[in-house]
Amino acid sequence: IEIESQWRPFVESVQALGEHQWQAGPIINGVVQGGKTEAITAPYDRREAVGSVDFASADQVEQAITVAAKAYPEWSERSASERADCLLRLAGLLEANTGELVALCHREAGKTIQDSIDEIREAVDFCRFYANQAATELAETKQVTSFDGTSRLLSYRGRGVFACISPWNFPLAIFLGQISAALAAGNTVVAKPAEQTSLIAFRAIELMLEAGMPAGVIQLLPGTGAEVGSPLTSDPRIAGVAFTGSTETAQLINRSLVARDCESVPFIAETGGQNAMIVDSTALPEQVVRDVVRSAFASAGQRCSALRVLFIQEDIAERVIGLIKGAMAELSVGRPEMHSTDVGPVIDAEAKQKLLTHIQSLKNQAKLVAQAKLGSDCQHGDFVAPTAFEIAGIDMLKNENFGPILHIVRFKASELEQVIDQINQTGFGLTMGVHSRNERTYRHIERRARVGNCYINRDQVGAVVGVQPFGGQGLSGTGPKAGGPHYLYRFTQDVFNA
Ligand code: NAD
Repeated sequence: IEIESQWRPFVESVQALGEHQWQAGPIINGVVQGGKTEAITAPYDRREAVGSVDFASADQVEQAITVAAKAYPEWSERSASERADCLLRLAGLLEANTGELVALCHREAGKTIQDSIDEIREAVDFCRFYANQAATELAETKQVTSFDGTSRLLSYRGRGVFACISPWNFPLAIFLGQISAALAAGNTVVAKPAEQTSLIAFRAIELMLEAGMPAGVIQLLPGTGAEVGSPLTSDPRIAGVAFTGSTETAQLINRSLVARDCESVPFIAETGGQNAMIVDSTALPEQVVRDVVRSAFASAGQRCSALRVLFIQEDIAERVIGLIKGAMAELSVGRPEMHSTDVGPVIDAEAKQKLLTHIQSLKNQAKLVAQAKLGSDCQHGDFVAPTAFEIAGIDMLKNENFGPILHIVRFKASELEQVIDQINQTGFGLTMGVHSRNERTYRHIERRARVGNCYINRDQVGAVVGVQPFGGQGLSGTGPKAGGPHYLYRFTQDVFNA
């Protein structure tokens, strides 16, 4: 009842904005521009129009970078606390407009109400976190003294124009997380949101301008990766790139930076994973299943941290798999605004098709453990039923399957070291979960795992700004973790004065 009453105002704003049509387009120097118009429909029901967006052209990419480059000197000369103030005002405006933003997240990205609320909270946290860090740490000039007594004054400033390229799965939190760090550090920004979530991004930039951000400091370029992202990152005036998305796209961007001979250009990449969980025979089965179901199927499996491969020790495999089947039979898949819904739609028809193809191919090579039922309201949307398979090994999976599909592998106690080796050999290194009541075992696994984030005896869901910074290694990313103490510094350069 308490949860329902917390939800009610947001459900009401979703209902009130049920017919609302949002419009978006490129924003350059504070002015909304026209472009090639694309219609936006809701992932949970493709008959429902949400609005339209004008995609940017190659000329507009060029103009946006020119404007941002021109605005850089003045913005970088402002004090860190003045820059922070703009972001703190934005955080306040995001809170004041949470109702509309929840409705937008829900309708454009197909998120459940709870996921939409969490999304906006995280975006607010990112803005405040980097603003406060800049206002305290970057505002200071530090005296650094060497062993022979020579001393210098160290201060930080921005690098120039940053390209911020973001995915659709956290359309506000990651989008604003990147931008707020870049701006707080004194850079100007050209932002390219994911094409699937341009409306949310547009609304966020409108609020940023309303918060008093100078017009030339932030430009928005909705559009595709090929038409907007690629020319943006290959422009020699771009001083740094913050990217979150798939490993393949990060590799493309990296190649274009190398081709520009730009090893000195910071490239912050947060990418995909092949996230595993290891469960030994001392684990508590009920707790394991609660955390497995949440880690694999929350947000329809579209979290970068989501569990993909569950390694379960043979001795308790039957019991745990039996409980997983039971839990999956209870999952409610359907329209995301319903309080009873556990799993909403995936982002679009292309994602759905890829996931269904993977499910189909596994049906021929692996054992189907369970498949949840789609609700009767799913027929017009991009829904994929949560599905679990038993597979022979993690090496059967070549790519990240970004949706509600769980793969289960059994192992013997004597094979633990090989299991850790196999997980490490995938080359990805984003998240890993461990369920064990044996402290030596879980400490050992944690030490050997080559991942950015290890979760012990709990679910494997994401980041907490300022508390649990998030990032990966290997194919899962480069650069300091988002929401942690070092991230902001990657957007700065050191300046030494006598
Ligand atoms: P994606 O790589 O398809 O797209 C990400 C962004 O890159 C989009 O804005 C896209 O338009 C742009 N892009 C595409 N091609 C480009 C190019 N050639 N040059 C420049 N930009 C280009 O990823 P997605 O489908 O939007 O997001 C899902 C992926 O993101 C998953 O792999 C997920 O694991 C990953 N992800 C990782 C994290 C993390 O913190 N590690 C967080 C969220 C999502």
